[in-house]
Amino acid sequence: MAENINQILEKQDYFGIRLESIGGLGANLCGKMLGELAVRYLNLNSAAFSSYGSEKTGTPVKGYIRYCLPDKEIRIHAPVVHPDLLAVFHQALMQDAGVWKGCGSQTKVLVALDEGQENLSGGLPDCIRECYVVNARQIAMESKSRINVVMLGAIAKVMGVMQLEDVRQICRDSLGRKYPDALEGNLKGLEGGYAQVRQLALHTETVSGKEKQGGDSQEWGYTTAPIGGINPRFGNTAVADLSPSRQGYIPLFIKERCINCGLCDTTCPDMVFQFSRGEYNGREMMVNQGLDYYHCKGCMRCVNVCPVNALVQGAESEHAQKQYFLPNQDMLRTPDYYVESGPDGYITSESFFTEVRMKGGEV
Ligand code: SF4
Ligand code: SF4
Repeated sequence: MAENINQILEKQDYFGIRLESIGGLGANLCGKMLGELAVRYLNLNSAAFSSYGSEKTGTPVKGYIRYCLPDKEIRIHAPVVHPDLLAVFHQALMQDAGVWKGCGSQTKVLVALDEGQENLSGGLPDCIRECYVVNARQIAMESKSRINVVMLGAIAKVMGVMQLEDVRQICRDSLGRKYPDALEGNLKGLEGGYAQVRQLALHTETVSGKEKQGGDSQEWGYTTAPIGGINPRFGNTAVADLSPSRQGYIPLFIKERCINCGLCDTTCPDMVFQFSRGEYNGREMMVNQGLDYYHCKGCMRCVNVCPVNALVQGAESEHAQKQYFLPNQDMLRTPDYYVESGPDGYITSESFFTEVRMKGGEV
């Protein structure tokens, strides 16, 4: 950061961080650790809280952290509207205009991007002058940790005033007590985020070029709200695009093994499994046709429950096959809808046919 927190706090009352995330990625815990870090190691006062909907996993989550100098009390407990640092936990969220609300030229942005997405296809607002990226999902998978610790490490590095050892200690005190078996992986993930975050050179081609001025001009109101006033963002209502909730893994369906018991369908919290009338063992019955990954949050409950291993866990990055997508038959949408909504939904039941899987034999 060009200016550190103390310099910024000499000019303004608070330093505000906003985390934009999806339920299940761990932004709430990340925010709490950031709050604790400032009090214990930066000699600052801090306050941290999150807001999320009724069903936490898969729904939009926002985390708010405020820092101020130690001689000042934090008497404001409202969302951070104009963040000094904005951390976006999943690149799919960049399509949501609300994510950029209140951002300005003072806002440093950190985005969790997958490999090869550096052109920021979702688009940054034109006002952003400083942007950092980290491949959080990949690091989390390799270290067997979660995206939140990778982002914590990356945020600490971007802020420039936090020592890696202090962040590690917070991680030990917080996650180490709760999940001692996962501590080693979490520390590796944290260090990976700290080491691998990098600044993007913001050339003109990395920004959208469209009018996108921090979202303030795109608030919903009587004339701009979707029909019926629904919230069509990730994890909500009919759209139910839960793909950003996944953390690198998806259930893969091996149709030949399936005995059509329906356990996966009753276990799945969403509308992923597509059963239709068909024939199995010479009898007419409801047959499992595959999965609509658009609704799949990657919880792997179906994998655990399937009695014949017809569902197995696989790496999502190896199965992005658009032609195998199987849309939800009860909510058929036009192909355009998927095209516009991003590539994550294009993985299907038949992706087990891909060469990568066959090479490995059992997945
Ligand atoms: S639980 Fe397994 S065997 Fe049963 S319907 Fe689902 S995929 Fe098929
Ligand atoms: S992992 Fe399985 S149970 Fe979980 S949302 Fe996806 S299909 Fe449903």
